[in-house]
Amino acid sequence: MLYYSLNKQSPKVDFKEATLRGQAPDKGLYFPEHIPVFPKEFIKDIVSYSKEEIALQVIQPYVGDTIPSKKLHDIVVETINFNFPLIKVDENKYALELYHGPTLAFKDVGARFMSRCLGYFAKEKKEKIIVLVATSGDTGGAVANGFYNVEGIEVVILYPSGKVSSVQEKQLTTLGNNIHALEVTGNFDDCQQLVKQAFGDVEINRSITLTSANSINVARWLPQQFYYLFAYQQWKHETPPVISVPSGNFGNICSGILAHISGLPVKHFIAACNSNDVIPAYLEGGVYEAKKAVATLSNAMDVGNPSNFIRILEIFNNEFGNLKNVLSSYSITDEETKSTIKQVFNQHDYVLDPHGAVAYSALQKYLSVHHDEHGIFLETAHPVKFPACVEEVLNLTVDIPESIAPIMKLKKNATLMSPDYNFLKDYLLGV
Ligand SMILES: *Cc1c(COP(=O)(O)O)cnc(C)c1O
Repeated sequence: MLYYSLNKQSPKVDFKEATLRGQAPDKGLYFPEHIPVFPKEFIKDIVSYSKEEIALQVIQPYVGDTIPSKKLHDIVVETINFNFPLIKVDENKYALELYHGPTLAFKDVGARFMSRCLGYFAKEKKEKIIVLVATSGDTGGAVANGFYNVEGIEVVILYPSGKVSSVQEKQLTTLGNNIHALEVTGNFDDCQQLVKQAFGDVEINRSITLTSANSINVARWLPQQFYYLFAYQQWKHETPPVISVPSGNFGNICSGILAHISGLPVKHFIAACNSNDVIPAYLEGGVYEAKKAVATLSNAMDVGNPSNFIRILEIFNNEFGNLKNVLSSYSITDEETKSTIKQVFNQHDYVLDPHGAVAYSALQKYLSVHHDEHGIFLETAHPVKFPACVEEVLNLTVDIPESIAPIMKLKKNATLMSPDYNFLKDYLLGV
């Protein structure tokens, strides 16, 4: 499999090059040259496959021969060694819980898969590889955990001081070894700005392979398809599900649509957004207008110009009509998010996190005019990661799951810095 740049000004590369580069030299996103088709029996008999077999079937064509099959098998086994249960919440909605991984966020799968692929590719390279990320919370934890102790790779994470939850901060700052946390006295935009500057710095890129671990990287984007097949494996209704995905940068939903194009039965996709409504507005009026992100309760989705949406357009050859047949989008306010959390807890005894609540609410809107259908919403984070919101709305304490209790006792270890690029540069050169 080769990947081309969506800007069409760079050579095609294989999975290894695409993973190491992240973005093409012309700043375009990499996109697979063709979309594989699942064998018919695979979908028909999906209940008889193991999770690992499903994942391998999906990812093998994308990886090609850049990783030997035995190694790829091991990577997949490690990537998905936790559960992805589909839980019935009310008469026509099911939660696909994607938060049973080590950092309680759906980003664990992409981060774990990418880290292990990069670890394998690093063995063949002499240069030092540094993964550099700015995080507003969830990405950093998943990346830190996923790359922890992966040989040949150092991880540098920038996060805004005082702006991530206590669970998130512990996940970023307690691992040590090859994971380095920089606590920036500024906001998320400052962190992102510093990271951008480093990627554009010729001097740094001469001596270090600097790569990002965000969802534009094919090795983080493509394995997210697994969720949709795991959901389908547990689906008991005759007609395929409507699937509602809480969306920020649109990497997750884009991978779901990709799996659908490969042959996974899905009735319809819903991109559930918070007040950052660029895509709902685009699908409504046909005009794409990037905006400045506004802060909401579902802060992992506070994105004003979703980077992966261009991949969705590519899947549909930029044909607006075809896109609208498959995808709808809703914008959900913070008020609606809170009332949804309250309603679902009171009526169905199920605790949503703010991101899952946005997805539930969007699905509810869609199903209210499509009565006969059933739907799945993706629960992308454990409610305990957003205690301020969930506990205020429900007036209860969310217990910290046993799996992460140990890190809450560990001591934070972060380097405090002001948003000063020279500091970051010296730090990167010295790691
Ligand atoms: C990152 C994230 C999202 C958004 O996913 P995208 O792939 O960027 O659309 C949704 N929910 C949570 C909890 C996240 O961390």
